[in-house]
Amino acid sequence: MKLHEYQSKQIFSRYGIPIPKGRVTTTAEEARNIATEIGGRVVIKSQVLVGGRGKAGGIRVAKDPHEAEEIATHILAMEIKGLPVRKVLVDEAANISKEIYLGITNDRAARKPVMMASSAGGVEIEEVARTTPENIIKEHIDPLLGLKDYQARDIAIGIDLPKQHWKIFNQIANGLWHVYQDCDATLAEINPLVITEDNRLIALDGKMLLDDNALFRHPDLSELRDLDGEAPSEIEARKYGLSFIKLDGNIGCMVNGAGLAMTTMDIIKLFGGEPANFLDIGGGAGSDKVTAAMKIILTDPKVKTVLFNIFGGITRCDEVARGILVAIAEVKPKVPMVVRLVGTNAEEGRKLLSDANMITADTLADAAQKAVTAVKTVKAGR
Ligand code: GDP
Ligand code: MN
Repeated sequence: MKLHEYQSKQIFSRYGIPIPKGRVTTTAEEARNIATEIGGRVVIKSQVLVGGRGKAGGIRVAKDPHEAEEIATHILAMEIKGLPVRKVLVDEAANISKEIYLGITNDRAARKPVMMASSAGGVEIEEVARTTPENIIKEHIDPLLGLKDYQARDIAIGIDLPKQHWKIFNQIANGLWHVYQDCDATLAEINPLVITEDNRLIALDGKMLLDDNALFRHPDLSELRDLDGEAPSEIEARKYGLSFIKLDGNIGCMVNGAGLAMTTMDIIKLFGGEPANFLDIGGGAGSDKVTAAMKIILTDPKVKTVLFNIFGGITRCDEVARGILVAIAEVKPKVPMVVRLVGTNAEEGRKLLSDANMITADTLADAAQKAVTAVKTVKAGR
């Protein structure tokens, strides 16, 4: 789950990271009021869950409250990379003398969180990593020991931070580490962390990604979710407790069990196809869940064939078959469907589906090959 800039910065602030004075709003009139309260120049920032808002024209400086209202009106009517702007953050404008990057994420290979910093802030870190990787300073953090002072100092030295800023930098780096740990984040990023012309360090931008699997222990953070930034199919899937991830291929997959779902995707690829999604309907799924899953798969216009791979254990194949039939009746799919049912009540399941004009398969390899062939016939218009 992604947090907005204003949400991330509010959290940062609670951990001793300096942020600009400012507030978020949904209206241009209020933007004007906030600008009046702040006084002087303000920056109006679109709150959408994508990067590169600056380049897209979603971040602009206003010299007075009147201009703040004008700019806010304009930005609130914008769409950035397909997402509507519903909120703007009105912040005190900073006079920037230098932009720094500071972030923490998980380094899977090292099995530790890693703090990264770069003196080339403001630009996306992926860009720095590609063009000048030597400009990224990394410190792995032992999760039991936390970030040590010497590590923060090493980073400060690595990015040529003038000594007068080391103390506050240490506070910011520590704050970011604790934010990352306390919120179960997978990313906590300040880009840019700026040195102002009057020599203060301020987090101008903030970004956080939270681990969905840990959200159950952060009810306060769960409430910050903005559905605008998520694929509608994934929102729908979450409602029904389905593990669903949309992919780019054209063979829709409905499988019970995460391991089996991954195996199914692998074998589709082995036979030259591309899965359209990962979908685990879970153990013991009833027909309503199957119907929901089927609708989610079929609303993707890219899907040219659906492959059902159900290994009946706790899940009963007849129950799955009933769900499929309900979904077929409602959605009236035009694409071929390949089904492999084995295990508990497979015989009853197959019987139920025998009138449904589906391609049946006995083994997983057989099913995958038939699905790949079916896609080709659809594409050829037959
Ligand atoms: P992003 O483009 O979505 O990453 O949004 P940011 O919040 O990082 O802003 C992009 C850029 O706008 C920053 O790198 C700054 O150069 C500039 N910017 C943001 N806020 C201010 C500000 O208060 N004053 C000035 N002068 N520039 C700002
Ligand atoms: Mn940024």
